[in-house]
Amino acid sequence: MINKKTCSRCGEKRNLHLITFSYGDNDPSGRLLLYCFDCRTSQDVNHRIDTSIPIEIVTESILEDLYRLKKTYSDPDTFLKMILEVDNPNLLNKINKILKKNEKENRLKS
Ligand SMILES: [Zn+2]
Repeated sequence: MINKKTCSRCGEKRNLHLITFSYGDNDPSGRLLLYCFDCRTSQDVNHRIDTSIPIEIVTESILEDLYRLKKTYSDPDTFLKMILEVDNPNLLNKINKILKKNEKENRLKS
């Protein structure tokens, strides 16, 4: 599902993983980004990376699961278009539904 991509940090095209970059200290969820090997292992950021999946095996259902598991709250429109460079209104719809459901659950808890 993924064609032409580059590392969100340095522009590298090889060894890319889809990662979550922690929103802050002690927060297990984070922004969805693509990082190359050097950036993933760089000491100044590696402690903020939780999820890390080779892009070759990333599928639509994996993306949905990341949102379902609350690993990320990244704006799916921006993420799909700007980072993955895919135009997939169907997937966008599904993810938006998951985000709405998560939001509702969070409201019920607080
Ligand atoms: Zn990089």
